[in-house]
Amino acid sequence: MDIKITKAATLKEKPDDSVLGFGKYFTDHMFLMDYTPDKGWHDARIIPFGPISLHPACTALHYGSEIFEGLKAYRRPDGGIQLFRPLENARRMNNSADRLCLPRFPEEMFMEALRTLITLEKDWVPHSPNTSLYIRPFCFGNDENLGVHSVQHATYAIILSPVGNYYKEGLNPVKIMIEDQDVRAVRGGTGEAKCGGNYAASNRAGQRAEEKGYSQVLWLDGVELKYIEEVGSMNVLFLIDGVVVTPALRGSILPGITRKSIIELLKSEGIPVEERKISVDELAEALEAGKLQEAFGSGTAAVVSPIGTLLYKDKEYVLNDGKIGKLTQHLYDTLTGIQWGKAEDKFGWTVRIC
Ligand SMILES: *Cc1c(COP(=O)(O)O)cnc(C)c1O
Repeated sequence: MDIKITKAATLKEKPDDSVLGFGKYFTDHMFLMDYTPDKGWHDARIIPFGPISLHPACTALHYGSEIFEGLKAYRRPDGGIQLFRPLENARRMNNSADRLCLPRFPEEMFMEALRTLITLEKDWVPHSPNTSLYIRPFCFGNDENLGVHSVQHATYAIILSPVGNYYKEGLNPVKIMIEDQDVRAVRGGTGEAKCGGNYAASNRAGQRAEEKGYSQVLWLDGVELKYIEEVGSMNVLFLIDGVVVTPALRGSILPGITRKSIIELLKSEGIPVEERKISVDELAEALEAGKLQEAFGSGTAAVVSPIGTLLYKDKEYVLNDGKIGKLTQHLYDTLTGIQWGKAEDKFGWTVRIC
């Protein structure tokens, strides 16, 4: 792939690591590439970061043809930079593309675009503990007409954002509301694709939870509102009576890379883990019986997010005295150790950039 690089005339001043937050600052450059059926993927370019101009009839704006990925570049103790399982993101993005009829983006190109852009922006990978450079690849339908049909012209892009320590105040468990009205996804829909539309559909329940003082919702399945699916925009895992259980991937759940890594890690440590259906009644019974020991969300942004309180049908349950559980803490320490290059990566999950 021939990537044409146009450098920014002036570079931005980098914010202090302490003010980064999530997705507020962007680096000096971005990657763009276009697709048309006759030319395939073409015109790979890195240009100064800034607004992109779109035709007012652009497909993504009207019919929601948009998919994305999220991963991070981590600063190692030796000053180098590494990624965590980036090929998993490349593959998942192609599965999302298949579902939304967007063109696939070859894995080698995914990796080369990442390497080139991150190497150019390497000074933007922050150094403070638990900070990183968030990478957002995305692809959208960019046809310039209102016809409803599968996308002809697509645009692929990567933007980079330095992000702060997710747990500035420590790993504090969050309050979660079990959502029994809206659903996030149904089998046969787009739940297992990482697409913007799923997020748009989730906003209302998220907003209602926030109004009630809860930080996220726990989603139930879209058919019977009976089985647990995900928590907010994270996968969810429970420690029930010494066994880690997580909803099986059956078409409506996003196959998280953090989820997959946690399952592999638990198996390697001989901790029992089950991927299966979990009904909200089973969860309520485990809660009543004191058998629900720990619960946590998993995702790239937070790694793990302990659940301290669960609201179900106006009844509030407190888990593990509202404190982070031992296993949750262990998983957080192990994964972050590998991601930031502080612990041995015996799984071969990390990829050095420089
Ligand atoms: C991205 C995402 C996740 C987490 O996936 P990771 O690969 O672990 O970051 C979980 N659920 C939803 C809905 C997501 O969009």
